[in-house]
Amino acid sequence: MTQQKKAVIEALSEAGGTHPTAETVYLLAKKRRPSIAMGTVYRNLSLMADAGEIRRITVPDGADRFDIFPKDHFHIICSRCARMYDIPVADAEITVKGLPAGVKLEATSLVMECICPACGGDNIK
Ligand SMILES: [Zn+2]
Ligand SMILES: [Zn+2]
Repeated sequence: MTQQKKAVIEALSEAGGTHPTAETVYLLAKKRRPSIAMGTVYRNLSLMADAGEIRRITVPDGADRFDIFPKDHFHIICSRCARMYDIPVADAEITVKGLPAGVKLEATSLVMECICPACGGDNIK
């Protein structure tokens, strides 16, 4: 493993379950290896996502987020602060009706919007 990749993985684990953007990963990695370039971080994230070592989560109207936890799970994102939470697939119980004939659903990258507790959550009427 290259030192750069190691720094990216360490930055991802430092970010924990927060699903950082590439820019956040870069800033965290830079604290450890001040010489690391943004392009290097982006490239390593892409390579790891393509290899299935990490997950890339595409967010509508937002920057891609990265997840150190590669197994299938769903996400909910706060539409106010963009904090992202994990939901295990087994707990999500989502049934999609009305799919076109012949379609096989691969809903493992589903992102739902929510308002998180810090932003008011279900206190908002
Ligand atoms: Zn929030
Ligand atoms: Zn996740």
